[in-house]
Amino acid sequence: MTIPVIAQLDELRSTVAAWRADGQRIALVPTMGALHQGHLDLVRRAGELAERVVVSVFVNPTQFAPTEDFGRYPRDLERDYAALSGTAVSALYAPTAQDMYGPNFSTKISLEGPALGLESITRPHFFAGVALVVTKLFNRCAPDVALFGEKDYQQLKVISRMTKDLDLPVEIIGVPTTREADGLALSSRNVYLSEEERAVAPRLHMALQDLAQVVSRGDPIAAAVAQAREALAAAGFDVDYVEVRDAETLEAVEAHDRPLRVLAAAKLGTTRLIDNIAVPRA
Ligand code: AMP
Repeated sequence: MTIPVIAQLDELRSTVAAWRADGQRIALVPTMGALHQGHLDLVRRAGELAERVVVSVFVNPTQFAPTEDFGRYPRDLERDYAALSGTAVSALYAPTAQDMYGPNFSTKISLEGPALGLESITRPHFFAGVALVVTKLFNRCAPDVALFGEKDYQQLKVISRMTKDLDLPVEIIGVPTTREADGLALSSRNVYLSEEERAVAPRLHMALQDLAQVVSRGDPIAAAVAQAREALAAAGFDVDYVEVRDAETLEAVEAHDRPLRVLAAAKLGTTRLIDNIAVPRA
């Protein structure tokens, strides 16, 4: 079956309106393309929650800083189209940047709470860009549900918070992280890793597992975090952050007295990897 590829907003709106008039539920899976199994797992879950699944592919310029990889981010719509064949997808929505952000575009979204710290330390522009594009995609597609990966845990919490705060009529669903057999979280950026870096990369997940175990035992958090940072540096990572946070609000914590999440970002060469896992209940 051929998947409709939609670039025009009026076509997206009329397609979705026809589904809705038929009483069908609509799920949106926003992506930046370079689709891998992690994305396809979101699509599969979306197919369980709605009769119609829209996958958007849009490399969003407003979430990249001038120093980041916007220019070299992998783009291949034909490959993405092929990856989606045989999945629950009903339409692939691929707008252009000119269409998303017209010449006099002047609006920003300002975020606090879960958007503070972590990714924002080195990428202060990032969540404002994500919030903007996600809000626009919600307004364009009008989905009943939208799915986001736990791989980008802070992003998931920022979007959940924003959706509640702004009364956006969309249910946000988080989907567990899809990993390689050795634990490395699937990411479109993994293609940047050299062979040697790829061999080291799973240690990020290992360090988070060790940290989560130690925190779950009730050991002091600050010492456990310092140990994880050391382990990563010894493996060759340039560590951005390793943190233990409240799993819901992402507030800093001092004790294991509620559900917690460990989160980290670290560079291998020029490639920045992020990962996170839940701290098991004590
Ligand atoms: P991206 O194309 O990187 O913007 O990701 C699009 C969506 O896929 C986001 O909601 C990500 O959190 C999600 N995603 C990316 N990698 C994974 C993964 N390994 N497992 C689960 N979800 C993922």
